[in-house]
Amino acid sequence: AVPLVVAINTSMAARNGMLVRDRIAMEQARNLDTIVFDKTGTLTEGEQGVVDVATADEWTDDNVLALAAAVERDSEHMIAQAIREEAQDRDLSVPDVHGFEALEGRGVRATIEPEAVPAAASDGVGSDSTDSSASSNRRAGSAERDGHAVAVGGPNLLRHLEVEPGADLERFADEAGSRGEGVVYVLRDERVVGAVALADVIREASYEAIDALHEMSVEVAMLTGDDADVAHSVADELGIDTVFAEVLPEDKDVKIRELQEQGHLVAMVGDGVNDAPALTRADVGLAIGSGTDVAVESADVVLVENDPRDVARLVRLSRKSYRKMQ
Ligand code: ADP
Ligand code: MG
Repeated sequence: AVPLVVAINTSMAARNGMLVRDRIAMEQARNLDTIVFDKTGTLTEGEQGVVDVATADEWTDDNVLALAAAVERDSEHMIAQAIREEAQDRDLSVPDVHGFEALEGRGVRATIEPEAVPAAASDGVGSDSTDSSASSNRRAGSAERDGHAVAVGGPNLLRHLEVEPGADLERFADEAGSRGEGVVYVLRDERVVGAVALADVIREASYEAIDALHEMSVEVAMLTGDDADVAHSVADELGIDTVFAEVLPEDKDVKIRELQEQGHLVAMVGDGVNDAPALTRADVGLAIGSGTDVAVESADVVLVENDPRDVARLVRLSRKSYRKMQ
């Protein structure tokens, strides 16, 4: 039988927009000393907008954006959505691609149809004309037949490909990062041809959520696949104690385990497919409202109202019930 207090507890939680899938986790919430939040879509609105573009050499902003929008056509990522919208707002003609591939936690890649290249060549998208080195001519020659390999992704992707962005684009990324903006790079044939700065907005409720948790002596951490500069700027703004940035999806649960091994009782709050293993690993897994099915399935409690303040309310509710039980 379910103890009466716990039953009251869960129905109270339900009235407060919390769907309890695991009652034991609900009870454990009173002892949590560390809460780890996913950043994008959890602490922030998760809606990105393009705020700036930088290019290499003969490339123009529009050419870089058209190329990026082409590769992002089939991606569901918020960054992809923002890039497609910007290309649309600018009335850009977006070339066709094939062989689309999502590189989890890093970016996307595809191949631009060879026939799409000549049409774009006149405005620079398909042209290497100002680059006269023999090796680059050979590359361009084979690209004429097979199409250009194009990729869009964050600093993670560049590290993975072992490609450098060049001094100008690096400066652009540093400046964007210091403003709290994220940067994705656009690559063609493994050469960085441009960078796009995107900004996300911190959710108003996140400030209160973190203050409330601190008042209850709960430590707050952030876990994200995003760039360290962006993550730290959001964390500083919110007063978050610990930041785990540039964490690959397959490593998110490892960070939770490390905290547990240090003796912490840990909750994870997330919305994405990427967060599912960490939600499962945590002592209390909290899926937030607009979350994916996978996140919801992996969570102990679903915060239906999509409000980060409900994390603090959950801890408070659990602590109150515990006092009643004694
Ligand atoms: P988060 O953990 O913040 O939700 P993700 O794990 O989804 O982020 O992605 C991590 C990083 O990988 C992003 O910040 C971005 O740099 C890059 N990335 C992922 N998907 C895409 C995409 N479709 N287009 C461009 N960059 C991407
Ligand atoms: Mg997310």
